[in-house]
Amino acid sequence: MSIIVENITKLYKEQKALNNVSFNVNENEIVGFLGPNGAGKSTMMKIITCYIPPTEGKVKVCGFDINDQSIDVRKNIGYLPEHNPLYLDMYVKEFLVFIGGLYKVKNINQRVKEMIDLTGLQIEQNKKIGALSKGYRQRVGLAQAMIHDPKVLIMDEPTTGLDPNQLEEIRGLIKKLGKEKTVMLSTHIMQEVEAVCDRVIIINHGDIVANDTTQSLKQYKAKQIISVEFDSIIDLSKIQSIEGVELVKQLEGNKYQIITSDEKDIRKDIFNIAVQNNIGVLTLNKEEQKMEDVFKELTKK
Ligand code: ADP
Ligand code: MG
Repeated sequence: MSIIVENITKLYKEQKALNNVSFNVNENEIVGFLGPNGAGKSTMMKIITCYIPPTEGKVKVCGFDINDQSIDVRKNIGYLPEHNPLYLDMYVKEFLVFIGGLYKVKNINQRVKEMIDLTGLQIEQNKKIGALSKGYRQRVGLAQAMIHDPKVLIMDEPTTGLDPNQLEEIRGLIKKLGKEKTVMLSTHIMQEVEAVCDRVIIINHGDIVANDTTQSLKQYKAKQIISVEFDSIIDLSKIQSIEGVELVKQLEGNKYQIITSDEKDIRKDIFNIAVQNNIGVLTLNKEEQKMEDVFKELTKK
């Protein structure tokens, strides 16, 4: 286990930013930490990276405790903070050499070159950071986070503020890095999790409200809700017998809501059953439950 978070609570004066939060992150897993603004994502990441102490609870990173082994924790973590603080007056290469020096990285010039190649900064390496676009600044942020070859990468909203092309590039880069590293990234964008992460932990108002594989969240998405209104009473068991039907809810009158377990469109089956039973269909609509809906459902309060 790369990261073990146990019963973390964080109070800012009276305000509770994290409420008894526990979760684990496995080695070489890419986990998305998803939640609306103010949910507590940055607070959790600052605690894991030893920037602020928790009020209560325990965190271990690669077996080291954040309270009494913070130097070892930092050696094992690369951190890209939310607003990616960079020295805008420094040159890309100069900055990476400087950061590498702080970590006492050996063969520093070789390592900086590797990071520049990895993050695709070859052409920009001799430019001032202040002259770079937001997407390239994120690459510099990733390069500095990786310079000491940490096992764990923590990235706080790494794609916020990027244009669609930059977004694609940075996501690709994160996925590439995730093959050899444990990655935890925060985001408030559901599609991001779908595109990049193996697992998602959803946080809302300081509480964990979901912790599941992206795959099972996708299955959530696959569910369909069919709304149908007949012109007379229908035998419910006939609808229930359609393959894929999970639940039939009777609304008022002859209106029904049918929830299916997979992506198969059963509207035709419903129609055929109605015809066979000499029943008219007044309305027949399909609503798809999106991952966003799952997210909204879990984070409404
Ligand atoms: P997120 O990153 O999910 O947007 P944060 O962890 O930044 O959320 O914030 C969680 C809550 O804690 C918010 O209500 C925020 O206003 C509050 N908060 C964050 N940092 C501080 C601070 N330094 N002092 C007081 N309150 C804070
Ligand atoms: Mg934040």
